[in-house]
Amino acid sequence: MSRFWSDHLADLTPYVAGEQPKVDNLLKLNTNEHPYGPSPRALEAIKAAATSQLRLYPDNEAVGLRQAIAQLHGLDPDQVFVGNGSDEVLAHIFNALFRRSGRPLLMPDITYSFYRTYCTLYKIPTQLVPLADDFSIRVTDYTKSPVADPAGIIFSNPNAPTGMVLSLADISAIAAAHPDIPVVVDEAYVDFGAQSAIALLKTHANIVVVHTLSKSRSLAGLRVGFAIADAQIVQGLNRVKDSFNSYPLDTLAQAGAVAAIQDTDYLKQMCQAVTDARAQLTTQLTALGFQVLPSQANFVFARHPDHDGGALSRALREQNILVRHFTLARIDQFLRITVGTPEDCERLCKALTKILAKTL
Ligand SMILES: *Cc1c(COP(=O)(O)O)cnc(C)c1O
Repeated sequence: MSRFWSDHLADLTPYVAGEQPKVDNLLKLNTNEHPYGPSPRALEAIKAAATSQLRLYPDNEAVGLRQAIAQLHGLDPDQVFVGNGSDEVLAHIFNALFRRSGRPLLMPDITYSFYRTYCTLYKIPTQLVPLADDFSIRVTDYTKSPVADPAGIIFSNPNAPTGMVLSLADISAIAAAHPDIPVVVDEAYVDFGAQSAIALLKTHANIVVVHTLSKSRSLAGLRVGFAIADAQIVQGLNRVKDSFNSYPLDTLAQAGAVAAIQDTDYLKQMCQAVTDARAQLTTQLTALGFQVLPSQANFVFARHPDHDGGALSRALREQNILVRHFTLARIDQFLRITVGTPEDCERLCKALTKILAKTL
C-alpha cells in the first residue's frame, strides 16, 4: 500500500503466474510451456525482421497476421483481433463486452483464475457456477442460467486446470440459449485434442473464441494471442485496444507469428509428440496410484488418494521439479503437471516413485 496509489488498487487481487526460477537442472512442468521449441520458420522470420526498419512503428492493425489467421480458419480478417498474448486479448474482452451495468458474468467456479482478476479490475460481478462432481461443466447450469440477466459467459475449453473438454454440441446449446450475450470460449489448449468453436461462428454470432501462440506453437516468450468473433464484436475490441495501446504487437512478434501460423505441419507434429507423451504419462501416473482426469490439453490434473497435494508439490520441488499446485477448495489435492518430453515424464515419474515410497 502507498498513499500514492489510485483508490481501486487496494481491492485488486493480481493473478499469480507460475514461477520462472533460474536454477540449473530444473524441470519446469508448472506453466504449460511446450517442451520443444517453436517452428524454425518462425525463428527465421523473427531474425529476418530484425533490421534497421525497427526504427518504424509496427503495423498497428497487424494486417498480415490477421490475414494469416483468417486464412488458416477460413474467415474474414475483420473477424480477427490480435493482442499481446491472449491474456491481453482477454483483458480487452472483459473491458469491451462484460461491463454491463452490474450484470454478472457467468463462469465455472474452477477455471482459468485470471478471469476473476479481470472482474475485480473492471468491477464486473461474477456468478460462479460449480463444476459437477466429476469436474465437468454441466451444460444445463448455463442453458438455464442461475441469474436472470447475465452480462456474458466465459470458460476455457479444454478447461483449465482440469484439461476436460466440452463438445461443440454443448457449446452450441449454451450459445443458442443466450443469443443476446457474448459467450467467450478460451481455447488456449484446443490444438492438443479438442474441437474449436470457430466452427460455430457461422450459426452463432455471439461466440467469441480466444487462441494463443504460447502453448501449442511454443511461443510463450513472443506474446501473441488472438480472438475470433463477429466483425462488430471485433470493432468493439478495437475501440478498447486503441484507447489503451495502438501497438500491442511489435514488428518481430508479428513476423514470427505469421510464420508460426503458416507452419501447420510443424504444429501437427509437435502436438502429436505432446499427446503421445500425455498418454504415456497418464498410464504411468495411474500405475503409481494417481487419479488422472481425462485431459485434452498439454497438462494432466492428478491427485493421489493417500498423499497431500501440497506435500507432493513441495517434495518434487526439492528434486528441482516444478509442478503447479492450487490452494483452492475442491482442487487443493491436485497437481497440474505440464506434459514434457518423454524424458521429462520419466524423470517426474521416477521422482514420484521415490517420494511415494518414502512418505508411506
Ligand atoms: C496460458 C493461458 C492463457 C494465456 O496465454 P498467453 O497468450 O500466454 O497470455 C489464457 N488462457 C488460458 C486458459 C491459458 O491457460
